[in-house]
Amino acid sequence: MKQIDFIRQIADAVSERGIRTYLERLVGPRDPFDGQAGMEAAADAIAEALRGFGLQFVEERFRCEGRWYRNLIALHQGSSRNGQVLIIAHYDTVPNCPGADDNASGVAGLLAIAGAMARYRFVRDLVYIAFPLEEYGNPGSLYYVEQAKADGIPIVGVFDLEMIGYTGLNQTVPPGIQAPAVGDFIGVVGNRRSEGLVALFKEASVLVAPSLPVQGLVVEGNGENLPLVRQSDHAPFWDAGYPAVMITDTAFLRNPHYHLPTDTIDTLNLPFLRQVAAATAASAALLARFA
Ligand SMILES: [Zn+2]
Repeated sequence: MKQIDFIRQIADAVSERGIRTYLERLVGPRDPFDGQAGMEAAADAIAEALRGFGLQFVEERFRCEGRWYRNLIALHQGSSRNGQVLIIAHYDTVPNCPGADDNASGVAGLLAIAGAMARYRFVRDLVYIAFPLEEYGNPGSLYYVEQAKADGIPIVGVFDLEMIGYTGLNQTVPPGIQAPAVGDFIGVVGNRRSEGLVALFKEASVLVAPSLPVQGLVVEGNGENLPLVRQSDHAPFWDAGYPAVMITDTAFLRNPHYHLPTDTIDTLNLPFLRQVAAATAASAALLARFA
């Protein structure tokens, strides 16, 4: 079978129904202080799903301000140790916010992708990571990147799913950025080093989600001049010199429910979320290469 057929099969296996099931398990209080039990329950649900795909699962524990937290890591081992492709998303939220878009959408997408890819063989490792504490300065991804750097892990690309489920008519566009005025696109934000990943996502989306509008943005440096493009777990990867993109519906620039009690499942556009997850899966599969 040709590569394109595998890619289409994987994209088709990313289902809206599966995504909805994950969302229903995850949405609810997940603030590390205000909703700790909810955050831990979400972590358990994510761990159970990742283990269920037959992947090698580990919890990386780290301490932050006197308490322990868990980075949830699942490895889909490649046929050669020739670089790693990461798909990441954060599972915490802020107080009084069920966090459907922010960021149950990203985690549900990650799980749907991991499940769809599980029965295929790739040359490179695929690594799925769910981080806690993104809303509190992302110490989880900082810790992970520090270890990866020290161990010399060759990370060839990171796809950070940061709010991927909301569309709306109103789209704010910050000064100096070219983007449509209607909030129906998915944003893919890279730095110069990650330009190839932005291009790859566009190519992949043409193959598996041709009706999905994709808006790429490549920022200078590590996005220091536009702090909002650094507001997720991809930023520590940029700072460490790894190629990474943030895949995002642009958060508060579009979603009026951002960080509010109204960030609920019924406000999401699930066909859109499914298309974004399918395009991400296809991008990751192309980068990891079929074995
Ligand atoms: Zn977020």
